[in-house]
Amino acid sequence: MMESGLLVIGAGPAGCSFAAKAAKGADVTILEEHPEIGRPVQCTGLVAPRVVEMARASESVLCALRGARFHFPAGTTIDFRSADTKALVVERQGFDQRCAEIASDAGAKLLMNSRMTKAAVKPEGVDVRFLREGKLEKCLAAMIIGADGYKSRVSEMAELPQPRERIKGLQVDLEIEDRSDVLDVYVGSKVAPGFFAWRIPCGDFVRVGVGISQGNGPPNQYLQSLLKRLELEDKKVLERVSGVIPIGFPLRTYADRTMLVGDAAGQAKPLSGGGLYTGMTAAMIAAGVALAAMEEGDLTAQRLSEYQRKWKEEIGRELERGYLIRRAYLRLSDQRLEALGRTLDRPEVREVLATGDIDFPSLLAPQIIKAAPKLLRFAPQVLRSMFSHTSMSRS
Ligand SMILES: Cc1cc2nc3c(=O)[nH]c(=O)nc-3n(C[C@H](O)[C@H](O)[C@H](O)COP(=O)(O)OP(=O)(O)OC[C@H]3O[C@@H](n4cnc5c(N)ncnc54)[C@H](O)[C@@H]3O)c2cc1C
Repeated sequence: MMESGLLVIGAGPAGCSFAAKAAKGADVTILEEHPEIGRPVQCTGLVAPRVVEMARASESVLCALRGARFHFPAGTTIDFRSADTKALVVERQGFDQRCAEIASDAGAKLLMNSRMTKAAVKPEGVDVRFLREGKLEKCLAAMIIGADGYKSRVSEMAELPQPRERIKGLQVDLEIEDRSDVLDVYVGSKVAPGFFAWRIPCGDFVRVGVGISQGNGPPNQYLQSLLKRLELEDKKVLERVSGVIPIGFPLRTYADRTMLVGDAAGQAKPLSGGGLYTGMTAAMIAAGVALAAMEEGDLTAQRLSEYQRKWKEEIGRELERGYLIRRAYLRLSDQRLEALGRTLDRPEVREVLATGDIDFPSLLAPQIIKAAPKLLRFAPQVLRSMFSHTSMSRS
């Protein structure tokens, strides 16, 4: 039986960020079920520049964006453009490979083709079974880190609650040159019920996708009708990506000898579905708590609850506010959404949007409300009381 201090399940950005930090002070092994890091890709790759710095992954950057155009259901459009780079688009496989390299340089052992099948917390450690290149192996780990994405087996086995919603995403890269630096976002029940659709210029190609909430059927019909609307249905498809984004973090992300990070913990941003910044941030916090708890020899749920307290201090407020805004968004009919678009169609609002940070979108709410006070008509009471007087800080 193999022994490991910290056993990480999943070599995505969250698992590798955890491992990179934890391997500086403990023995860390990562199990990854696929033969190759970063494949299959399940992402658009839109991140704030800070995320590329976190992964030291500048070589994976495809292009930089400075603005966005929002398209409302009946044709109202709001656009803004900033003098600064607002977001970068990364090539996700290269990005993930960089994260894995950093973890392995720090001393983490990476076992590819290794799929965890079972885990049970016992007094002496976590008894883990995994299939390595088809052969059943065992490991006794002091602690298990579920960085195994939205279908997290670790979460299931620890009987932890699941994220509240799942967004289905489908995207294609089309062979069209577009070197502009503004992305398009489309909202409305016909284009992307419960979420939004996007068109992103990536230089040598264009990335078009839809995200839809549960209960709206498969996303393909929405993608096809968007491609038709954009007159792109005949373009050559270079790559097709599909995946699920779990949003609405669960009440608990830890248990005895167990922590969940990234998508396994439902840490993606409810407004955009972006999970790289939040997942990697939480993973690094988890690593700090794991090292301290190992040193103290206390791996109980009570000791590990510090992880949840700390990640919520850092990103919980944004995730909670984002989720409340999302609930309000879901209540709007297409007619109301269009009316909201018209309300926002003011130069003052564009100015505010140009100052935004994609990792903390809800921080803009008070300033947008100040620029367009009629916006509060679209929000339920809970949002009104939260955003009408506050001037929010990041903490
Ligand atoms: C269509 C789409 C578009 C997106 N666009 C963006 C975006 O533009 N920006 C952004 O920030 N985020 C985006 N996201 C979200 C982002 O992709 C995720 O939040 C991010 O990948 C989460 O990282 P992670 O490390 O938690 O999980 P993952 O990247 O899912 O990694 C989990 C890893 O665990 C492995 N694994 C799973 N089960 C096991 C097992 N039993 N044993 C061993 N290994 C296992 C998997 O193979 C995988 O490598 C998008 C998601 C989708 C679906």
